[in-house]
Amino acid sequence: MNKKVLTGETITISIKDLKIGNHHPPIFIAGPCSVESKEQILETALRLKAIGIHILRGGVFKPRTSPYDFQGLEIEGLKYLKEAGDAANIPIITELMDEKNMDIVLEYADIIQIGSRNMYNYPLLKALGTIKKPVLLKRGMSASIREWNMAAEYIAAYGNKNIILCERGIRTFETYTRNTLDLAAVPIMKKETGLPVIVDPSHGTGIRELIAPMSKAALACGANGLMIEVHPNPEKALSDGHQSLNIEEYKKLFDEIN
Ligand code: PEP
Ligand code: MN
Repeated sequence: MNKKVLTGETITISIKDLKIGNHHPPIFIAGPCSVESKEQILETALRLKAIGIHILRGGVFKPRTSPYDFQGLEIEGLKYLKEAGDAANIPIITELMDEKNMDIVLEYADIIQIGSRNMYNYPLLKALGTIKKPVLLKRGMSASIREWNMAAEYIAAYGNKNIILCERGIRTFETYTRNTLDLAAVPIMKKETGLPVIVDPSHGTGIRELIAPMSKAALACGANGLMIEVHPNPEKALSDGHQSLNIEEYKKLFDEIN
C-alpha cells in the first residue's frame, strides 16, 4: 500500500513572482552564512541582486558545533535580513531551529530553512506541515535518501506540500572535504517526490575552490537551483568563511552558468 502524499508528480513552488520546479529555469540563492550586521547584509543583498540572484540567504539562528562560537543575531538579524531583502526587492530565506520562533520567522521570511541537524526533528516537521509558506528541507548529514524522503513526507502529510529539497552533503569516511556531496540524490529525489531539489555546494564540500565545479555538476544532473554562501569579505566572516565566495568570485560563477 502506497499512501505517500509526494507521489513523484511535479510540484511547483511559488514565491512571490518566482517559480521553482521542473518546468522552470534553476533559481539562485546566495548570501552569507550568517547575518553579521545591518551594513554587511545590505551591501551583500544589493550587490548580489545586481548580479541576478533570485533569493537572499542569511542565518540568524545559527546551529554551531561549539556553544562558544557566534550563535547569530537572532531577531535583530532577522529584521536586518528583511530590510536588506526589501531594499534589493528579493525574497529572503533563513533557518528556523526551534518551534518557539516559528511565528516571528514566518512573519519576516519568505522561505523557512530547516537545517541538516533538524531534519529528524519530527515535531518541528509536523508543525511546518500546518503552515503555508515554502520550507527548504536540507538533507540530514547522516540521512539516507529514504529518511530524507520521509522527512519531506512528514511536512507534506501534515498539510504543506510547498517543499524545496536541498542536498548539502553527507558524512562519509572521506575527510578531505567537509561532507561528501551526493549528487546522485538529486535525480533520485526529483523522481521520488516531484519536489524541486537544489544543491548547496558550500556545505557540500566545505572548500571554496570546489564551489564552482560542483555547481556546474549540480546543474548538469538536473538541480532546480543552487544555494551558495557569499560574503563581501570571507576572511572576516563570523562563520563558514572558508566555504564562502566573495562577491566577485560569485559573479564570475553566475555568469558562467547563466
Ligand atoms: C546553513 O545553511 O548555514 C547551514 C547551517 O547548513 P546545514 O544545515 O546544511 O549545515
Ligand atoms: Mn554555513
